[in-house]
Amino acid sequence: MKRILILGGGASGIAAAISAAQQANGSAEVILLEKNQRIAKKLLATGNGRCNFGNSAASIEKYFSRDSQNAKLMLDEISEHSPEKWFADLGLLSRAEDERLYPYSNQAGDLLNLLLYWLERLDVKIVTEKSVCDIGVKGDEYWVRCADGERIYANAVICALGGSAGPQFGTDGFGYELAKLCGCKTEPLYPCLVPLKCDKRQIQGLSGIRVKCGVSLLNGEKIIHSEKGEVQFTDYGLSGIAVMQLSGFLSPKSGFSAAEASIDLFPDMDYGQLETLLQSRCGLFEQLPLSSMTDGLLNRRIALAVLKRMGGEMEKRKAGTLNENEIKMLAKAFKDWRFDGLEPMGWQQAQTTGGGISLWQIDGKSFQLKGCERLYFVGETLDCAGFCGGFNLHWAFGSGIIAGAHAAKSLAKSSKKREKRK
Ligand SMILES: Cc1cc2nc3c(=O)[nH]c(=O)nc-3n(C[C@H](O)[C@H](O)[C@H](O)COP(=O)(O)OP(=O)(O)OC[C@H]3O[C@@H](n4cnc5c(N)ncnc54)[C@H](O)[C@@H]3O)c2cc1C
Repeated sequence: MKRILILGGGASGIAAAISAAQQANGSAEVILLEKNQRIAKKLLATGNGRCNFGNSAASIEKYFSRDSQNAKLMLDEISEHSPEKWFADLGLLSRAEDERLYPYSNQAGDLLNLLLYWLERLDVKIVTEKSVCDIGVKGDEYWVRCADGERIYANAVICALGGSAGPQFGTDGFGYELAKLCGCKTEPLYPCLVPLKCDKRQIQGLSGIRVKCGVSLLNGEKIIHSEKGEVQFTDYGLSGIAVMQLSGFLSPKSGFSAAEASIDLFPDMDYGQLETLLQSRCGLFEQLPLSSMTDGLLNRRIALAVLKRMGGEMEKRKAGTLNENEIKMLAKAFKDWRFDGLEPMGWQQAQTTGGGISLWQIDGKSFQLKGCERLYFVGETLDCAGFCGGFNLHWAFGSGIIAGAHAAKSLAKSSKKREKRK
């Protein structure tokens, strides 16, 4: 019997296995190799255990890739195959928060149980504690060598080994080594969707505070990207989804010489509106020090940090003593609070990998490596990383579904051809 081998039991590998087995309908053996003791360790941690498994508004604007043209073609193909519908057909009831999709029960474990049910029902053989370390071709078959020395032969191989993000879940970047063994070129890797370190003096005393605000990434005075959301102050720098989105723009090839973050503590007001508000409060609370004048608007520790940054002992000034120009300066300080020395945290904290296998080498309709029949690369190993919000699992599941079905169809075609020749 023909064999389809799937390397890696994460989101894309599991989707590929189910999709291949569905398409093959018993005509091929489907085997899934995973180095951990169990498959889907990372999937269980996604969305804080709720698994934000997709996004109904996925489009190229929500992805980082050096090759957005090919990434767009692939995303269009994924949309055609609709991972959302695929899940619904498997029996998943989902619920949407804005466009973010979650299992109705809000439990990643339930989504995994559903996938496990289908893997078993479709007779996919799962081999855990099996670490892949080499790949090659013999005749018209591929072979894969594992760390325990076993060689496994297959007619089609789908590489779904993930990226370098979250090594605690089993992804140590071996997917890229394997890709290189297959002759692939890769774009430089960088931790993506990760908190940002900054000069510690700028965040002294703020650790643990969360603020709803606007946050922008600047290169010099040029705004690269802006987000609205919750920023969390930590002992090393800035975190929270809004900040993590910015990290995607800090690729090694971005060439930003002086990246800074700017926090807007009043994102729903323009400068004029904020100046009017501050003017009226300075009048109302003229006897209070400035650090208390913003009580009810801002966390007092945040207000203090901004005022101290302004210098001139502003925090001690009485609200009633500010002139028009100083109120303007105060509004500017609250709307453009700068943080420099930005650096992404490491792989442990990253949710995904920027960079990876250059997309021009991959056929956008099937995720097959061009020039290598029935050898596929899917998921995070490819140079396409999504924003927070379900975009990465959309890509991982979608690419797996497409490659799995294509592998099974392509085996069926090659069997028919052989029969005809006989
Ligand atoms: C904490 C966290 C939360 C996240 N939350 C979300 C979210 O809510 N929504 C979203 O869209 N994305 C989220 N992501 C990102 C998302 O999980 C990944 O983009 C996605 O899992 C990538 O799928 P993949 O199949 O390519 O790789 P993975 O899911 O990483 O799977 C790769 C698998 O290959 C195995 N493997 C690696 N090397 C070998 C080897 N040599 N031999 C055998 N097996 C091997 C690994 O153990 C792993 O099981 C989150 C990521 C993290 C870390």
